[in-house]
Amino acid sequence: MTKVIVIGGGASGLMAAGIAAQNGAETIIFEKKLRPGRKLRITGKGRCNFTNIIELKEFLDHFDSG
Ligand SMILES: Cc1cc2nc3c(=O)[nH]c(=O)nc-3n(C[C@H](O)[C@H](O)[C@H](O)COP(=O)(O)OP(=O)(O)OC[C@H]3O[C@@H](n4cnc5c(N)ncnc54)[C@H](O)[C@@H]3O)c2cc1C
Repeated sequence: MTKVIVIGGGASGLMAAGIAAQNGAETIIFEKKLRPGRKLRITGKGRCNFTNIIELKEFLDHFDSG
């Protein structure tokens, strides 16, 4: 079985670990604080706003390609 170690239980780490586990990997998260997802809990004053909900193509058009 594939083993995955994720360093940091923030939004990115939790997402990566979830996807790895979903795909059958034995997954463990190492988080240095007492609990994972601490920053997530304060985003959007506890409601966790979406940063953006526009279509992916429109979103990418706002970034410089070169
Ligand atoms: C006040 C505030 C409000 C916000 N509001 C929003 C919002 O409404 N919508 C939105 O989209 N975004 C918001 N953001 C931004 C959002 O929180 C970040 O973009 C997101 O948390 C980044 O996720 P990350 O996993 O990259 O990093 P982090 O959330 O910083 O996670 C990194 C994790 O790794 C851990 N770590 C670090 N070093 C180590 C180590 N050596 N070993 C083990 N663990 C380690 C940390 O303790 C932490 O838990 C907000 C941010 C703040 C500060």
